[in-house]
Amino acid sequence: MSNDPSQIKKFLTEKILRNRDRDKDPDLLRQLSHISGERISVPMIYVGTTSCAIAAGAKKTYKAIEKYIDENQLSVKLIEGGCTGYCKAEPLVDVQLPGKARVSFQNVTHELIPDFLDEILNNSLPENLVLGQYHSEIHQLWDAVPFIHELPFNTGQTKILTANCGITDPVSVAQYIARGGYQAFADTISRHTPAEVCDIVEKSELAGRGGGAFLAGKKWKITLNAASDQKYFVCNAVESDPGSYMNRVIMESDPHKLIEALLIAAYAIGASKAFIFTRNEFSLSIKRLNAALQQAEDYGITGHNIFDSGVNIDIVVKEGARAFVCGEETALNNSIEGKRAMPSFKPPFPAIRGLWNKPTIINNLETLINVPLILKNGPEWFKSIGNDTSKGTKLFSLSGKVSNYGTIEVEMGTTFRYIVENIGGGVKDNSEFKAIILGINSGSYITEKTLDIKVDFDELKQAGSQLGSGACVVVGKESCMLDLARFFTTFFKNESCGKCIPCREGTALMLEIIEAATRKPAKGNTFQTLERFKGIMQLKGLAAVMKDTSLCSLGKSAPNAILNTLANFKTEFDAHIFERKCPAGVCRELRTYHIDVDMCTGCTACYKKCPVDAIIGAARQPHFVVQDKCIACNACFEACKFNAVIID
Ligand code: SF4
Ligand code: SF4
Ligand code: SF4
Repeated sequence: MSNDPSQIKKFLTEKILRNRDRDKDPDLLRQLSHISGERISVPMIYVGTTSCAIAAGAKKTYKAIEKYIDENQLSVKLIEGGCTGYCKAEPLVDVQLPGKARVSFQNVTHELIPDFLDEILNNSLPENLVLGQYHSEIHQLWDAVPFIHELPFNTGQTKILTANCGITDPVSVAQYIARGGYQAFADTISRHTPAEVCDIVEKSELAGRGGGAFLAGKKWKITLNAASDQKYFVCNAVESDPGSYMNRVIMESDPHKLIEALLIAAYAIGASKAFIFTRNEFSLSIKRLNAALQQAEDYGITGHNIFDSGVNIDIVVKEGARAFVCGEETALNNSIEGKRAMPSFKPPFPAIRGLWNKPTIINNLETLINVPLILKNGPEWFKSIGNDTSKGTKLFSLSGKVSNYGTIEVEMGTTFRYIVENIGGGVKDNSEFKAIILGINSGSYITEKTLDIKVDFDELKQAGSQLGSGACVVVGKESCMLDLARFFTTFFKNESCGKCIPCREGTALMLEIIEAATRKPAKGNTFQTLERFKGIMQLKGLAAVMKDTSLCSLGKSAPNAILNTLANFKTEFDAHIFERKCPAGVCRELRTYHIDVDMCTGCTACYKKCPVDAIIGAARQPHFVVQDKCIACNACFEACKFNAVIID
């Protein structure tokens, strides 16, 4: 196979994308394996350079490899890759030598590069860095190297949406096509009418991953059947929920998958224009999406009269502000139209009257990227994944107090216990499991009592929860749930767009109440004490008003964190309110400091550091804390070298 890009393009567009018998021709398949990077003639090195990897130093690793190759004048292909999801192992470097299976190496920091490459390029494995090898039917496997798919982090995962992530060059349209990409789109527009595509997607029971779980195919039909000269499809890739990052991983690791999904979806509703709406600070996502879109256009996959089918679809990446409310459908539409991102009343729903008053479908990124797989493998295949009530897989951004963290993809029906204990490798640092936070929007917790609940729309709904944004933050015993509720409420208060009173004033009032609960009232101030109790009594009523009367989901879901803390961690709440104690010792203003006279040597270090003269004592004599003066600044605790300062 020639390496000439124009020859490769001709081959892929004419012999592959327009040829439905492509899989039956062994010669074509062999040529594809060269383009996909499966068969190689020179060593290939992939460095994952997504945002998470860059934060771990992957760019420096990449530069060090580049320098090594230049200095040694080597014939080696170096590629900036995507993210396999295993953030813990970053910087990750994969090396494939001709004829040998690809091996993944973990935590390859830049200073290790010369020795690392000296070894691996001479056919020897730097054993301390080996993570695992990829299974191969056509290459020689390495001895005594575990398979990547057998690592505890990977065994329980079903990687269909993330199959390319970290494996391919994200901005190589040729590699994407050679691995089966854009074939579903090419076949769809030549074989199916838009109505048939909607039917197939509806039959697959693909439900929206954003929380509502509405059937995607059913929703698409509303717009397909709406009479209009112009329709739009929008991919919502805003992802503003703290703790969720899987949209970003997909956009940075496999942008062509999203483009293909959007092309099929736009075709299905009769839209000639589609948007990918994301946050403007996702600079790498935007860069890779735009590069991929340019390639797709060069290959004639987007634009006018695609593959001579008469189908026209343009896709544009739209950058929105870094605001949570931009993810709300109507605010998102306003932002695309160039207006301030503020929600509007519904109805009319965007499916009938959306962008520029035209029928518009908005699906989130994760929902969409299922679509090419459904069209390629059929609705029954998709329905065979998952359980009776929820089909397919679910992506999560697993983080917090777990040993293994990163982007994971599990089959619907997997229990959260399995996610924490098997994929996550259990709670780390000898801590104890306390809860999982399933995204700030849902504000719902999974506790030890509900840890066997399944990743399932119905089961979560019955438990008063929802899948939410895909954030899956594991909380250990050392975290204070009121402190977390305070964090969430602060977030919502700051993110409220201010359009409606219940949300604008309600979030501020809720924050005041929760802050009062994590503070000691001034001594002797009965009014403050009463206010504190009154605030707690008002919480439920206030939450009900916000839920009933806020205009959009931000205001409606803002009280969830506090309500769920009250429901699931009442003893912790009570300890703050009635005993004025934070059991986890996190709420600083509720801490009490005192000095153990038996441990105190009278060194005076704490006395000198205390900013409010709350410590008394003479040199070489035990010291004491005057509680009325102490402001819980922690300076004495940090100053004492004899463990004599005790915090209650
Ligand atoms: S609920 Fe909050 S974010 Fe939504 S429109 Fe009202 S003020 Fe704005
Ligand atoms: S916590 Fe701060 S204010 Fe309180 S006794 Fe120690 S140093 Fe002084
Ligand atoms: S720093 Fe520790 S040992 Fe020294 S006086 Fe204070 S409490 Fe005692």
